[in-house]
This record gives sequence, C-alpha cells and structure tokens, in this order.
Amino acid sequence: MKQFKKFYISIDKDLNVLKCNDVFLQYIGTDQIFNLDQIIPPQDVMQLRNAIFAVNPGSTGFTCFRVRTYIGKLNWMASNIEKSLAFDGPITLDMTDIQIMKSENISGTYDKMTGLLSKQAVIDYLHELIEDPESGSFYTFLMDIDHFKTVNDTFGHMRGDEVIIDVAHILQDCVGENGVVGRIGGDEFMLVLEKINTEAKLREILGKIKDTVRDKYHNYGDKLDITVSLGGALFPDNARDYDSLFMLADHMLYTAKIKGRNRYIIYQPQVHGIIGLNGKMVTPVEHLSMNSSKVSMIRDLMRDYLTGKSHTIREIIERVSKTYDIDYIYVIKKADYKSVAGIEKNVEKDKVIINPSETQLPILASENITAFFDANRMAVVNIHEIDKEKKADIYSFMDEKAFRSMVVCLLTTDDFDGYVTFISRKDSACRLSEASLADLVYITSLLEFSSDLK
Ligand code: GH3
Ligand code: MG
Repeated sequence: MKQFKKFYISIDKDLNVLKCNDVFLQYIGTDQIFNLDQIIPPQDVMQLRNAIFAVNPGSTGFTCFRVRTYIGKLNWMASNIEKSLAFDGPITLDMTDIQIMKSENISGTYDKMTGLLSKQAVIDYLHELIEDPESGSFYTFLMDIDHFKTVNDTFGHMRGDEVIIDVAHILQDCVGENGVVGRIGGDEFMLVLEKINTEAKLREILGKIKDTVRDKYHNYGDKLDITVSLGGALFPDNARDYDSLFMLADHMLYTAKIKGRNRYIIYQPQVHGIIGLNGKMVTPVEHLSMNSSKVSMIRDLMRDYLTGKSHTIREIIERVSKTYDIDYIYVIKKADYKSVAGIEKNVEKDKVIINPSETQLPILASENITAFFDANRMAVVNIHEIDKEKKADIYSFMDEKAFRSMVVCLLTTDDFDGYVTFISRKDSACRLSEASLADLVYITSLLEFSSDLK
C-alpha cells in the first residue's frame, strides 16, 4: 500500500499556529501561517473549535474540515486531534488529505470520501472476528441516513457529500474505541462493536449516534433535517456466521425504516422472529413447522425403506433440495469424479434443473478436502474459513464457481464408491446450518439405500 502524506500542525486553543511541517506549508502554498482561520472556511472553523473543545486534556479525538490548498481549492482533511495534558497546552492536528488518499488509490482500506474503513475492509474485519475462536460476543449494526435522496434533490450532491462526511465523523466519534466503522454504500454504514456485549452500553452508544446526528442540524440552524436508522444483532447469540448476522442486521434496519426512521432496533428473536428459508423472517411457530417438515421428510423416506419401498436417487435429491432449499446437489462417482445425478436450483427464479449435464468435480480428490472429513464421513468447507494460500486449490475452485459452502459426504456401498455434495452459492439465501448438517448425514445414508445407486 502506498503511503499518503501526513500533515502535522501544533496550535493553541484559539487556532494560532505554533508549529507545522514543511510539506503542509507547501500544500497551502505559503511560507508562514499564523492562524488556521486563514486557510479554513468559517463554517468549518466552528466545527474544528467544537471538536477541539470536546477532547479531554491528554486524550485524542477526530474531526474533518476543509483547507484551502495552494491552488485555491478547498480540500477535505481527516484529522486526529491530540490534546496535551497541560491546561491550555499545545494541541496537535495530525491530518490527511482525503482527496490525496483517493488519488493515491489506497481506497482498498479506506473509503475515499469519509476516511472510514472501506466496505471490503470492514467486511473483512467482521469475517476475521467471526472466525477467530478467541472472539467473545459482540454487536454488528447497519446504519442508513433517512430520506437522503431528498438532501441531494433539495440542496445538491455537494451538500449531500458534506452530510455523509459529517454523519461518518459523528459515527466514528460516538463509536470511538468500542469498535470499527466502515462505509458500505452511498449513505449506508456498518458498525462492528467488538468491545460491546451489554445491551445497556449498546443503547447508550446507539442513542448518542442517533441524537447527535439529529441535533447537529437542529442546533446549527441548518434547514436540513437529518436523521439515521440503525439495526443490528449480537454474535454469536443471534447468528453464528457472517451471512446470518448481516441478514439480521439488514432486517432490523429495514424494520427501523418502516417503523418511522430516526430509531435503532436491536434484534430479539421473541419479538422479530427467526430467519427462515430464502432469508425471510418467520415466527418461531412457523420455524418449528418448517423444521417439522424436514423431520417428516427424513421419517417418511426411512419408513419407506423399512417397508421395502426404496426411492431413486433422483426422488431423494429432489425432495432434499426442496425441503432444505439447497442450491446444488451432486452424486459423484469416485472413478472419474463425474456426477451420476444432480439437481441445480435457485440459478434462475423458480427454475430447477434436474440431472444437469454431467458435472465433474476433480477437486474432491484434493488432499485439502480429504483432510476435512470427520467421524461422520463428512467434510464441511466454507470459503470464508479456507486459508487462501495453504488451500489455494479449493479456494480458487470455490471462488471461481461462486460457492459459499460445500458439504461433501462419502457415499460407499458394495456397488458404488463416491460422494454426495451439498452446495450453497455465494449469492443465494441457502444456508447449510448446523442443524441441517446432522440431517445431511441421514440423507447420505438414505442415498446409500436408494435403488439405483450404482
Ligand atoms: P431511506 O430513508 O429509505 O434510506 O431513504 P433514502 O432517500 O435515504 O434512500 P436510499 O438510502 O436508498 O438512498 C441513498 C441515496 O444516496 C441514493 C443516491 O442517490 C445517494 N448517494 C449514494 N452515494 C452518494 C454519494 O456519494 N454522495 C451523495 N451526495 N449521494 C449519494
Ligand atoms: Mg438512506
């Protein structure tokens, strides 16, 4: 990653400049500067004064303001504020030009406009936290500015950008050391609050974000009325994987919007229900009945087998794919790693392809898959958990095919040696949850009993 320029200035509480580095003087095109009000527009001077006032002696804060550059252009700066312990002691501003970050293309980690983490960076951070066995419980929230299109339509895109930057900085200030925040869309943000696991602390921070945004515009007599909505859930209590956690947060944000906006909603299963098939929220009673349809499918197939009515592979995989909403199921022969039966669904809306043209999965021969097999002769491979370098073959295979997870079960009878694979795609709502994994062991046995497995 390229290094971008850092500017340092030391000032007093009245913004008189005590010291600054040469690169900064070059940047503003002067040999000397006496007071920051020479280069910062008045409305931002006010913002900077308030931000400095809010920092306690001996600690740090963060703000943003515009600076007039040597060509007379106003550029946004992201700045840390460091206050010395001494009363009325010097204040250090450690600044970065957000535009330079953009032009030097370090946007991989930071969002160009706000200086917050980029979408990819904050999502990667959340993945790492979920996959780290040392992680305790933590909250994840999504936040979106209410009726933001009206801001753009009424005051213009430039003013819209300023609002996004202001909201981003309020968010950063309120979250502080309690987690990380990133911008994941135009007016949408993600909060990963890894230091917060009590609801009281969470409510304090969410309330502060919501009220500070609302008050900022009321207090400064701006005609804008800006509010935000937030929704989120607790890991691992509410969701144990990234997709379910994101989905819950997204549902809660949506609920906050339809309930009238300017509010936060913390997921509670008793109140909001449970994520069902296709990512829809269902009540606990509906969820139970869905589970009972899974139980009855397995029970029916077992009973049929015991009473002498064996099912074909095709009948079994069709029923399994329907009941569990699994994207792809393939029965693979070990001799050539080609499918002898398969089903593909969710590729197009409501379209199911039975026995698609022969699929070959030579990746199943990889030692990196065999190493995953457990006592149930099952290997569960999740793309987010694969070491990209050490298991490069599986990673690139799954990445290329856009598979999120793949459950491979050994399928061995006197007449057949092979595998059955249950696959979910990255872009689908299909979840091979922990509960279903146990069921897949039974289903594999049922396939072994099927009349045409040869
Ligand atoms: P809601 O309360 O339902 O969220 O309503 P909304 O009007 O905020 O709707 P939505 O969140 O879908 O709209 C986001 C808008 O943000 C759409 C797009 O025009 C605008 N936008 C996206 N990126 C930027 C940006 O970088 N700058 C500005 N000014 N606007 C942006
Ligand atoms: Mg919005």
